[in-house]
Amino acid sequence: MKVSFPYMGNVHHYYKLMKLLGHEVIMPPRPSQRTVDLGVKYAPEFACFPMKVMLGTYLEVIEMGAEVIVSSGGKGPCRAGYYGETQRAILKSLGHDAQLIIVDGPYIGIRKLLKIISIIKGKNSWRRLFQIGTIIYQQMKYMDELEKQIQIMKAHEVRRGDCQRAWNKIVEIFDKEDTKEGLDKAYKLSKELLSSIPLHPVEDHQRIKVGIVGEIYVVMEPSVNLNLEDFLGSRGVETERSHYISEWVEANLIPKSYRKDDFHERIQQKGERFIEIPIGGHAKETMGHIVDYKERGFDGVIHLMPFGCLPELVSQSIMPSVMKDLDMPVLTLAIDEQTAEANVYTRVEAFIDLIKAKKFEHNIKKEEVAFV
Ligand code: SF4
Repeated sequence: MKVSFPYMGNVHHYYKLMKLLGHEVIMPPRPSQRTVDLGVKYAPEFACFPMKVMLGTYLEVIEMGAEVIVSSGGKGPCRAGYYGETQRAILKSLGHDAQLIIVDGPYIGIRKLLKIISIIKGKNSWRRLFQIGTIIYQQMKYMDELEKQIQIMKAHEVRRGDCQRAWNKIVEIFDKEDTKEGLDKAYKLSKELLSSIPLHPVEDHQRIKVGIVGEIYVVMEPSVNLNLEDFLGSRGVETERSHYISEWVEANLIPKSYRKDDFHERIQQKGERFIEIPIGGHAKETMGHIVDYKERGFDGVIHLMPFGCLPELVSQSIMPSVMKDLDMPVLTLAIDEQTAEANVYTRVEAFIDLIKAKKFEHNIKKEEVAFV
């Protein structure tokens, strides 16, 4: 079975799960202008931007021979609940018979879920599926942890590009491993690699930390958010995203009783201060993460929303009171096929200047008080 997936952040590194299960994997290309053009051409005009980019990717992988596409997005009160059906109808109307499988955790019902898992499982035993799933999940956790470290280090690297080169090497090291021992070794090697990167010394009170929140696709996929994390890193800003794939898997695919951490629930609870009920997408988490970043001493938040995204429009509309209540600067950026790099970078530069001024003015005042 020739299987493919949408491209989102680092997720393509974990498609080896399908290889280990004996499927042929068609690696999706990184979203490009062509991907966006294809999605925009065939999706309804008012479809969400992530849906258009994913549709473009599906069309590209079908051209490359994909027979089955495994994706997510089948639940929720926003448009995500109808993504799969719409995309299926579009592919069919274009004469493609590739099967589109939507995986979205146990919420879709146990029968449907078992049916999907048995297609993915192929001829492997349940035990083998569990073993491979556990290994891939471990790899996600290791790589997400390393990436978080790199997002901090990038802001202070002496030679520009060292962290990116190290990340490329880390990806290579992990790609070769498919056992628990191999992953442990890869993690150790990666840690050593990172500790060899020279960094500018920086005092704790001089660090500028920005959280990136919003809809999962635009937060995680650098080709649609214009490599925002790299840009911020190059300006000396440490970043952390509200979405990492290991956390998504933990929150959506692992039953509550097996989870080691209740991080997702804690974030949701923190979000209830501003949005009480689930309204779809990641709006409640967006709020929860902003509260969390405030509690952890971050200096600002960049809120990414696909243009027209209903849940994030709600977040945006209450953002002024969130900023006031938390005393936290937030910059909202709407992303779609019209988004221009110069526009985004100019606004982000201005935002960085603002949070630096706020932080250092605050520090100066504190020092004055201490001196008095
Ligand atoms: S979260 Fe936003 S972008 Fe995603 S499907 Fe829902 S409305 Fe669309």
